[in-house]
Amino acid sequence: MLFNVDRDYQLLTHLGMSGTWIISPTKLIEKHQHIRIKTNKEFLTYVDPRRFGHAYFFNKEEKEKYFKRLGPDIASKDLSVQFLTEVFQKYGERELKPFILDQKFFAGSGNYIANEVCAHAGVLPQRKCKTLKADEIKAIKKGFQKVLKGTLKGGGVTFSGGYRDAFGSKGSGLSHLVVFHQETCGLCKKTKVKKIVLKQRGTFYCPHCQV
Ligand SMILES: [Zn+2]
Repeated sequence: MLFNVDRDYQLLTHLGMSGTWIISPTKLIEKHQHIRIKTNKEFLTYVDPRRFGHAYFFNKEEKEKYFKRLGPDIASKDLSVQFLTEVFQKYGERELKPFILDQKFFAGSGNYIANEVCAHAGVLPQRKCKTLKADEIKAIKKGFQKVLKGTLKGGGVTFSGGYRDAFGSKGSGLSHLVVFHQETCGLCKKTKVKKIVLKQRGTFYCPHCQV
């Protein structure tokens, strides 16, 4: 989320896993408030119970420098099959899921997105990038599109006090997710979802659908 503070300054926040901006007519009464902005009409409050989010206050130069270090936005056309093929080749030793959480390559990615992308692509999260075949890379690209579409439709994801939309209402929940915090895989609808920890992050996959 990028806010223009005035012509020269900008405030950027990465919501991390549980961060959310809430718009309210009066001062919000809620724990875990980290930033509060008062406009002439309402309050904008950044709430982040798990503190995985980040906030940056930039001038123009700092902003340009920062964005140069970031990879393509996962929702943009720049996240192409060609881009994926190149980075998977170049960073072949990295494991797929932790890699697609890396903001230097996949700006805007998050833990549930990375889990869900692997599931939709039919690829195990711990696969080394160099082992990915051309059709799997295409499936990963499609997976990003599918997951991002579901996220927008569902109005954010809700889990253990997590995501909400900007008006503080909880999203339609986990209904569009297939493995993340799921008991049974939403794709084959029969296999129990496995949970492991990969590079310190909760990782979910279906041992039947993902190879
Ligand atoms: Zn499955």
